[in-house]
Amino acid sequence: MPSKWSVQYRRLSPPALSSLPAILHPYLSSNFTSVSISLVNPPDLRLAPFHLAAAGLCGSPCIIDVGGPAYLHPFPNLNKKYDFLDIAAAVDERPGPKQGKGLMIGAGAGPFHVLGGNAELVPNIAWDDGIDEGGHGKVKNETRWAKVGSQGKIDCGRMNSVDEASKHNSSAFGLMANVFCCSGEQGEILKVSVHGRKGPLNFTECIRQALRLHFGEKHPVSMGGVFLIKRGKVRLHVMPDFSEKALVTPDDVRNWLRYFEVDAPLICLTTFHTEDLGLELRMEHTHCFSEDGNVGGHYHMDTTPEEVEYEAYLNTAEGVWRVDQP
Ligand code: ZN
Repeated sequence: MPSKWSVQYRRLSPPALSSLPAILHPYLSSNFTSVSISLVNPPDLRLAPFHLAAAGLCGSPCIIDVGGPAYLHPFPNLNKKYDFLDIAAAVDERPGPKQGKGLMIGAGAGPFHVLGGNAELVPNIAWDDGIDEGGHGKVKNETRWAKVGSQGKIDCGRMNSVDEASKHNSSAFGLMANVFCCSGEQGEILKVSVHGRKGPLNFTECIRQALRLHFGEKHPVSMGGVFLIKRGKVRLHVMPDFSEKALVTPDDVRNWLRYFEVDAPLICLTTFHTEDLGLELRMEHTHCFSEDGNVGGHYHMDTTPEEVEYEAYLNTAEGVWRVDQP
């Protein structure tokens, strides 16, 4: 099915995963007290404490960047209603073997047209048996949403319970999404464990900067995956419902967002790039959720640096898809 949105693709030449521990270690050690990086075959990521919709992060890994903040401010563009399975179908038309099955994890904006208002989204959806126009095969949807509830607290839920009658609706989103996509197979990936932060960078920005410093602009690297924040506290933001007044400046946006400090453990889904590739990419985007389903939102920073502990499972992308670039 051809996409109703513009679709661009940039192929990447990802570095060998085996080269990354030595490249990342010195830089991460300047920001974190204890650092351990290795290649591993991770456990089944469908299980606790990860709760992904598929078992692994391998099989034609790519990153898909859909829409963007330009559709949120100064005013929301309410025509920007997307569906992860439509996006999957659009990018599955590339040359080469059809995936037939896949996983998307990352960060995005909730489907305002389904949820009845603006929300954070933590995309986490897998499909199998191919994608067809109606039924989309078998779908496992672990996607969470988070919004600001009436008491000013974080209100969370699962997309697969939004509309039991229509699984299609539950794979919807709005405005933007940044997802790591692969066929969801198990295989060797990068494990990064750090404990104690002594520098100014958050976890994803530190990895991104380390890659950027080493590879430079001639060798762009894009990555995605899942990480756990195992201990400490974290600052998140959650978007409230759409603003009635224009959000013109970055300060307008910052003042509109609601900030929360929440306790670990949290499960974070991330994508990041060292280079923009001329596609106006979101250079880093990470959303998280708690296993108990009580909190979720956009990851900014740990707020208890001595205590914080991160454990990540990441893979490099073989390409970047840009869908409906503003
Ligand atoms: Zn976000």
